[in-house]
Amino acid sequence: VKAKSASKKSESTTKKGKKSNEEKDVYHDDREHVNVVFIGHVDAGKSTISGQILVLTGQTDERTVQKFKEIAKQKNRDSWWIAYIMDTSEEERNKGKTVEVGRALFDTPKKRYTILDAPGHKNYVPAMIVGAAQADVGVLVISTRRGEFEAGFQRGGQTCEHAMLAKTLGITKLVVAVNKMDDETVNWSQERYDFCVEKLRKYLKTCGYAKKDITYLPLSGLTGEGLKDVVSKETCPWYGGLSLLQTLDSLKSIKRDSTAPLRVPIIDKYKDMGCVITLGKVESGILRSDTTLLLMPSGRKVQCVNIGVDDQEVSIAKCGENVNVYLKGCEMSDVHSGDVLCEQASRCPRAVALDCQMYVLDLLEHKPLLTAGYSCVLHIHTVIVECEVAELLFQTDKAGKKSKRPPRFVRSGTSVGCRLTLASVCAMERYKDFSQLGRFTLRDEGKTIAIGKVSKVYEA
Ligand code: GDP
Repeated sequence: VKAKSASKKSESTTKKGKKSNEEKDVYHDDREHVNVVFIGHVDAGKSTISGQILVLTGQTDERTVQKFKEIAKQKNRDSWWIAYIMDTSEEERNKGKTVEVGRALFDTPKKRYTILDAPGHKNYVPAMIVGAAQADVGVLVISTRRGEFEAGFQRGGQTCEHAMLAKTLGITKLVVAVNKMDDETVNWSQERYDFCVEKLRKYLKTCGYAKKDITYLPLSGLTGEGLKDVVSKETCPWYGGLSLLQTLDSLKSIKRDSTAPLRVPIIDKYKDMGCVITLGKVESGILRSDTTLLLMPSGRKVQCVNIGVDDQEVSIAKCGENVNVYLKGCEMSDVHSGDVLCEQASRCPRAVALDCQMYVLDLLEHKPLLTAGYSCVLHIHTVIVECEVAELLFQTDKAGKKSKRPPRFVRSGTSVGCRLTLASVCAMERYKDFSQLGRFTLRDEGKTIAIGKVSKVYEA
């Protein structure tokens, strides 16, 4: 009996004890992690393509597919079955529209991906912003079906708005999925493909995308051709490029500087095993266990005793990973969502005010002017805080030229520089230093009214 309990004890000591040296610096998964957002006009095929990718990469089993197919059939919407895998709620299914930003994981031998499925409906642009703000790569989905391509480009069409917003939010790599090539009005016609691509090329140039950062490719979300494998020569003899997944795999690795300072914005927390466990994403640098960290903006010293990634204990987590961080040296009340974990040598600024460049999207009908004194809610990384426009600094015209004099007020559809004061101290960064911690949206009465980038932080 004695021997048994002794062996039990030694087992648990090994588990809880220090990790062996060989384990140090061994990543849980070496493949790059990339967040992909699908953008484009409603009905262009975003959900269909993302659903199809999940099937083709083995993330969704046939039974689930079958289940959703049946639901779709009952509702007389057969062709929507793949979209249903991602559109989760009953309400969304009835409407046949994607409302929230859907999330799904898939991987290739080269990389791991999270798909953020952004809705294309006009009223849901804010959710698309949330998706795009977290994305590394944008896939702009375009329908080539006669009439549909044209509609996406008309006034009020979202092809332009999404491409423009994505650019504003920092997406620099764009893959254009020229979809519905199988449609009977298109039939894999090179002429139709060239026509659509030519129009897009001209337009995306005006959005500020460099030619080298855009890849165009023909595909069909419905049949799956051109998604995983290159579309066959029989179907599309004139195309000599890559498939969608091959294109994503071939994009140059996202510049993630492992020597950059650590930043882990906290989304949520809970208590377990004598630790406060915080949930977050490593947005910059490398997180190591058995290190002393700072919790900003309070500046409290905390001990990172353990790290969890995908339910596994790891000693190190790289940039882009979603992590559970086990903290000692703090109570639940010391930790808040919106706090940022960083190293003592490079602490995240404690902002009380900021200067920014922002684009005013769509002001409220009963508050159509943005002036000094306007108060609303700032959403920046995981922070949500009340703020006030202290001062309008300048207005920017379409060519990007700043006005000499500050405007007294601006309306929807304007680019403006302004100073915001915050109701409480928050951890944040300049956009040019840490893009993920320096881009924001402004919301008022539940509606997104502006998007922007922090250019200067005023510290407490
Ligand atoms: P979303 O609003 O962009 O997410 O578009 P959905 O994925 O919901 O697709 C809208 C409609 O287009 C559905 O009826 C789909 O079946 C159809 N669709 C999507 N992709 C294709 C395609 O490649 N070919 C054809 N023929 N139809 C497609």
